[in-house]
Amino acid sequence: MITLEQAIDLLRATTIRLETERVGLNDCLYRVLREDIVSDIDMPPFDKSAVDGYACRMQDLSNSLEVIEVIPAGSPPVRSVGPNQCSKIMTGAMMPAGADCVVMVEHTESTALNTIRCTRDTTAVNICRKGEDVVKGEKLISNGTRITPNKVASLALAGFANPLVSRKPTVGIIATGDEIVEPSVVPQLSQIRNSNSPQLFAQILEFGCIPRPYGIVKDSQQAIRAQVAKGSEENDLLILTGGVSMGDLDFVPAILEQEGYQILFRQVAIQPGMPTVFARKGSKFAFGIPGNPVAAFIVFEVIVKELLASMLGLKSFIRCVRCPLSGDIKRQRSGRIGWRPVKMTPDGKAQPVEYHGTAHISAYASAFGIVPIPIGINEMKEGEFVEVRLI
Ligand code: AMP
Ligand code: MG
Repeated sequence: MITLEQAIDLLRATTIRLETERVGLNDCLYRVLREDIVSDIDMPPFDKSAVDGYACRMQDLSNSLEVIEVIPAGSPPVRSVGPNQCSKIMTGAMMPAGADCVVMVEHTESTALNTIRCTRDTTAVNICRKGEDVVKGEKLISNGTRITPNKVASLALAGFANPLVSRKPTVGIIATGDEIVEPSVVPQLSQIRNSNSPQLFAQILEFGCIPRPYGIVKDSQQAIRAQVAKGSEENDLLILTGGVSMGDLDFVPAILEQEGYQILFRQVAIQPGMPTVFARKGSKFAFGIPGNPVAAFIVFEVIVKELLASMLGLKSFIRCVRCPLSGDIKRQRSGRIGWRPVKMTPDGKAQPVEYHGTAHISAYASAFGIVPIPIGINEMKEGEFVEVRLI
């Protein structure tokens, strides 16, 4: 058995980085950048008015001002503003020469034809200076970052209309188990609904990859082998759930070997999810993960994502918040890193969700994160600060 850290190191060392492609800005959401985003211009590119108003000289603010020009956004000014003059200017329009401030239109009144006066004492300049937000050549986003909605505008302003991103990896999903039935079916005696496949589908999709479900396969060596062959042919990564432990019908590790995969680990010191198998066949990868839905969820979250991140060139993806526990967390055995679901209380504490063990996936429906329980720790007390990993 290896530790989670060792498993992650091994995955990273084994990974093959995916090829790149260019995508349009409307197709870039959740893709992973494979180039730095460096601005080719200053932002703003010129001194511009921050308000609708009158561009003039600060020293003339108490005088009547003659309006000499109207400057809409998108049209460079033609005239220079002299003493006791002003140009009517729109938000975003370029500042005229000679002016050093803009009086908001709300703070002026017209005193005669083409003449205005400032109705308030003001020291506001109301100019956005050239380059105050971004300087030409500045790096706005680093290679290896996932593109989220808050980053898209920066790509656009820096001129990256077709950013270079990783190809999306495809991930096949196979649920194994004689007892597993589709979610649309009412389970008969001894049957269980397939919650792993749709759960994995959602996790894969959310991680910016392409999920490909291969349905439910019976605990038959022949049937599993056929789907493994097809699924590994058609995908970058294959995930099987169930059939990896010590039961008589737990065929998955042996079948992966028969299909030419080399098993790189069989057990990781995590709870749940210990009998997790990771295998490689050339440029193809496979995970066999335990069938219990909490184990499947956690293993995808803390192990499979590491492989996908490495393939994608994604530098970091774990989001944590540090907050105190609002109740105790206890466990019997402490030989593996444990994970517990927590919800957020209105006063910002992590409240352990009632959790009965590795089959209790419904406990996760109300969770906002998971808390690691380190190896060697049996108990974490109310008030203790923890790093909640957001899910
Ligand atoms: P296994 O890893 O095959 O020994 O399965 C462990 C437990 O997880 C058993 O109780 C299974 O019924 C359950 N299980 C296996 N596959 C799934 C699945 N796709 N959806 C929900 N539960 C499952
Ligand atoms: Mg099984």
